[in-house]
Amino acid sequence: MDVPYLPSLGAVDAVDGLEAFRVEARAWLEAHAPRRDPGDIPVPFSEATVDLEESRTWQRLLAEEGWAGISWPIEYGGRGLGPVHEIVWAQEAARYRLPTDVFQIGLGMAGPTLITWGGADQKRRWLPPLLRGDEIWCQLFSEPAAGSDLAAVKTRAVRRGNGWAVEGEKVWTSVAHLADWGLLLARTDPEAPRHRGLTYFVIDMRQPGVEVRPLVQMTGTAGFNQVFFDSAWIPDDGVIGEVGAGWTVALTTLMYERLAIGRALIGVEGAFEAIVDRLRRAEALARPTIRSRTVDLFVRGEVLRFMTQRIISRLAGGEIPTAEGSAAKLGLADLVIRAGSLVVDGLGPAGTTDRSRWSSLFLAGPGMRIAGGTDEILKNALAERVLGLPREPRPEPGMPVSGPAPLS
Ligand SMILES: Cc1cc2nc3c(=O)[nH]c(=O)nc-3n(C[C@H](O)[C@H](O)[C@H](O)COP(=O)(O)OP(=O)(O)OC[C@H]3O[C@@H](n4cnc5c(N)ncnc54)[C@H](O)[C@@H]3O)c2cc1C
Repeated sequence: MDVPYLPSLGAVDAVDGLEAFRVEARAWLEAHAPRRDPGDIPVPFSEATVDLEESRTWQRLLAEEGWAGISWPIEYGGRGLGPVHEIVWAQEAARYRLPTDVFQIGLGMAGPTLITWGGADQKRRWLPPLLRGDEIWCQLFSEPAAGSDLAAVKTRAVRRGNGWAVEGEKVWTSVAHLADWGLLLARTDPEAPRHRGLTYFVIDMRQPGVEVRPLVQMTGTAGFNQVFFDSAWIPDDGVIGEVGAGWTVALTTLMYERLAIGRALIGVEGAFEAIVDRLRRAEALARPTIRSRTVDLFVRGEVLRFMTQRIISRLAGGEIPTAEGSAAKLGLADLVIRAGSLVVDGLGPAGTTDRSRWSSLFLAGPGMRIAGGTDEILKNALAERVLGLPREPRPEPGMPVSGPAPLS
């Protein structure tokens, strides 16, 4: 049975040609892509090994046929449509097996950041191979002491000749082990106020000064890494935006990260039928607690589905739905964790040990509460910006990162 994907609501219909786009996307997918098997549910952040050949073949086909960079400007190989079209594509594509996750940081974050802030030569150099899947990108933001408080980044980039030498350490860097290029936030002026001493770079990941060490997650796979820089080199044309203005560029990446996570999670949201099917086959639905939790999951999924509609409507109206985006990410992380534990409880001990997609979903779920903004940070944002509650204490923005960081 098909998952009942989002029905059309009024505001969404108001976007010119959106329904025609959905029909076209559906027809193309049906003609070209294999359907997902019922148990092949998408598991976020869990893939460490990737068949690069297969991924590249798919990405190239998508680029050639106009399904990559749907919201990118036409001059950079995109289709010139809006973020709503990207979401509609993600909804339709979720039913099919398109092994292109390894390109998501490039397509969802690096591309839009370069389009917004890159110079003409930088766009010409990096955007076409990114879109075609010829080059893989990673995001080098988080450090051992700079995650939620990203402005505390300590990795240094020091002026040397006609470029920059980088020293320091990043952590939790997804797909760094496969990446050709990294989006690097580094400190170029340790004496400047913490948000103003940062510069945004593109760094070549395949050079001797960059060492990538895998970090094994509790899924048993190593999808992310530690990355060490020892006199790693970035020529001047690797600076994105102005020197010292890296924070502003990073905010663009973070905004697109939220959108990209939202799109990636649409597939997980649509896995309800597969969950019911698996529980039924395990004869678990006869158990009252499992039945009750299944209904609870359905209701929560429906709420999220309508929240996604609201996000789409806001986007369609040209707004950035930050509050809805925060709430939806919170809700979705919660939903995935509930879904994973429901299936595992329904299947019994085998559910955690069979190394299936179900056990991966159970084990990868908690990471979703951290990646791309933790639950607590999102709740703070909602509390302050939506409910108008008193501000959380936080480091004084004017302080240099080298000095003390008193709480205001
Ligand atoms: C699967 C996965 C993939 C990732 N991929 C990448 C990647 O590719 N590139 C990258 O740069 N990073 C990546 N990250 C890192 C991610 O962005 C950080 O883990 C996240 O920003 C949190 O930072 P932290 O781990 O340093 O935790 P911390 O910021 O140290 O937080 C620790 C705990 O304290 C809480 N906390 C912190 N500050 C506050 C506050 N002000 N109020 C209340 N509670 C607070 C947090 O919510 C959390 O529970 C990834 C993480 C995961 C889980």
